[in-house]
Amino acid sequence: MYAFGVPVGWDEGAGDRVAVFLDRDGVLNVEAGYIHNVEDLHLVPGAAEAVRRLNNQGLFCCLVSNQSGPARNYYPISHVEALHQRLCTLLHQESGARLDALYFCPTLSLPEGGINPDLASWSTWRKPNTGMLIAAAWEHNLDISRSFMVGDKATDIDMAHNAGCTGILVQTGFGDRVLVGEYQHHTRPDYIAADLPAAAEWILKQLATQPLN
Ligand SMILES: [Mg+2]
Repeated sequence: MYAFGVPVGWDEGAGDRVAVFLDRDGVLNVEAGYIHNVEDLHLVPGAAEAVRRLNNQGLFCCLVSNQSGPARNYYPISHVEALHQRLCTLLHQESGARLDALYFCPTLSLPEGGINPDLASWSTWRKPNTGMLIAAAWEHNLDISRSFMVGDKATDIDMAHNAGCTGILVQTGFGDRVLVGEYQHHTRPDYIAADLPAAAEWILKQLATQPLN
């Protein structure tokens, strides 16, 4: 057994909750580029009900989102937080749905277009790096290997596989364009779902055969 670099107290049973990690744009809310006005954030049809179904099964619902707008000087981090407040409000109002935690990466490296000196940096948190999933797992006792990631980009699936969790590509947002090779790069998701409701349905079926904590 190699303990090199492994924190004291960590073992394979350290995380035991199953999570559904959710990308934001194109999954929970309609893809609309950089959203400069909070009122322009609108839910994908059925997304709120899908999250509520996951909530009801005791799954930890966790937003993980690249948000490079602040690094590009499009708007401050407080604007991203305001968008997330609206997202949570809409989820609750429509279906009583809840996100248990929200993680986002506001940084972007200089070569990729980051110009805000405070945020123009490479980060382990930026997808397809796994930092957001690792942080969430540590802070909320999650078992990444039994968890799911739902996204609309190849980089969402890459992050899922980099972290060892199941990657589901939805066909909303950029998903359809990814599948036909018109956006980003080829990817091999573990499942392709029409949208978040279909992804939630598949997740619940997978979990029907294993106990939840
Ligand atoms: Mg997206």
